[in-house]
Amino acid sequence: MQYHAFLIKYAEIGIKGKNRNHFEEALVQQIRLALKRCEGKFAVDRTSGRVFIYCEAEYDYDEVVDALQHVFGIVGICPMVILQRVPVPELLKEAAKFFGGEYPDRNVTFKVHTRRLDKNYPMESMEINAEIGEEILNDYPEAKVDVHEPEVLLNVEIRERIYLYSHVIPGPGGLPLGVSGKAMLLLSGGIDSPVAGYMCAKRGLRLDATYFNAPPYTSERALQKVIDLARIISRYTGPIYLHNINFTKIQLYIYDRCPHDELTIIMRRYMMRIAELIARHSECEALITGESIGQVASQTTRSLAVTNEVCAMPVFRPLIAFDKEDIITISRKIEAFDTSIEPYEDCCTIFVAKHPVTRPNAGVIRKHEHNLDEKIDGMVLEALKTDEILFVDPDGSHVIKHREDEKEDIAQMDEIHLENSPERSAFGGRDMEL
Ligand code: ATP
Ligand code: MG
Repeated sequence: MQYHAFLIKYAEIGIKGKNRNHFEEALVQQIRLALKRCEGKFAVDRTSGRVFIYCEAEYDYDEVVDALQHVFGIVGICPMVILQRVPVPELLKEAAKFFGGEYPDRNVTFKVHTRRLDKNYPMESMEINAEIGEEILNDYPEAKVDVHEPEVLLNVEIRERIYLYSHVIPGPGGLPLGVSGKAMLLLSGGIDSPVAGYMCAKRGLRLDATYFNAPPYTSERALQKVIDLARIISRYTGPIYLHNINFTKIQLYIYDRCPHDELTIIMRRYMMRIAELIARHSECEALITGESIGQVASQTTRSLAVTNEVCAMPVFRPLIAFDKEDIITISRKIEAFDTSIEPYEDCCTIFVAKHPVTRPNAGVIRKHEHNLDEKIDGMVLEALKTDEILFVDPDGSHVIKHREDEKEDIAQMDEIHLENSPERSAFGGRDMEL
């Protein structure tokens, strides 16, 4: 069947007044962006609390539905047939024909629901319901009416034209992208962090991402895997700026100066500090990680507390109480799993101690970070200079800038780093009471 339009359903709970306007505007904007990548010509219209997409030229139905299923905020997509404002006998015929086309099996229970928005139409809603019902029963005797729990709800909306729809294709739910601000995702090549990014984006957060790379200990292929994962997420979030940071020197230096059972924790503290610097510079308001309680030594309650204390920004950990199996289910759903399990080493797996601490003591960790002296500050700034910013979207990726070339940019990061007092005090822990 050739549908002329789609009615978009979205959750309305908690979105009232001004918020509602903001929410709907963001939703319309995201729908427009998603449709830009589809062949055809579309008009997105928002009237009296409903969003309609009118298809004004030939289009590929599957492509459009797939694009809409990636727009957060949409809970249902209803393909519609639009009739001109035909007289009643013709409406009855067309509605029955529509029903027959939508449900070729016809062995279903149904109910007709009419909304007569144009009160000049010469028959009342209840009457139209009854007459269309009768027409359907005449044409398809296998069908049965059930007004309480129908399998099929046939909707008829009488406006300046007449809209018919019945199927509701599920959307991804959540809140439209951007209504919750922007956050920095710490993206590794694993299973968890892409899922964490997806889940936060689903709550309306735009994403940037940071990847800590450790060449030559990690390969080009490992970076490519992270880019591929960012691209998979970008099908939901739109373009992502992916910061590729060279972490090798810092990692080796920590390895050299700190107890090996504390390596992962100290390394993670530096990752968080650097990610926060980039986040501030990129106007992100939070960090996101794929951590989950007890998954590995660095994710015990105590380890998370010790990692957390270096951040002034909120750290969102949407997977905190998820079992691995539940995470994998989402990973598969968003089609990231096969890429996540590609066997390329990520920088953490290379420098892992045999027996990492599971109950680190924050004071002891801070004390050992003292061994890193001022040199580590220089290394952090140097790492920031290696920042290669990649623009990643569903169609591909390309480098847009190397931070090294941007002297002013780095000077500004340095300022953020030095001026921000909570961060400064967390930095290397040197000006902290032990
Ligand atoms: P994942 O599957 O996301 O790699 P993981 O279970 O392997 O997670 P860890 O390696 O301990 O866990 O990392 C915990 C979190 O820290 C990750 O989910 C990610 O958010 C962040 N992280 C770890 N390594 C990196 C990295 N190389 N670059 C950026 N972020 C990282
Ligand atoms: Mg990992």
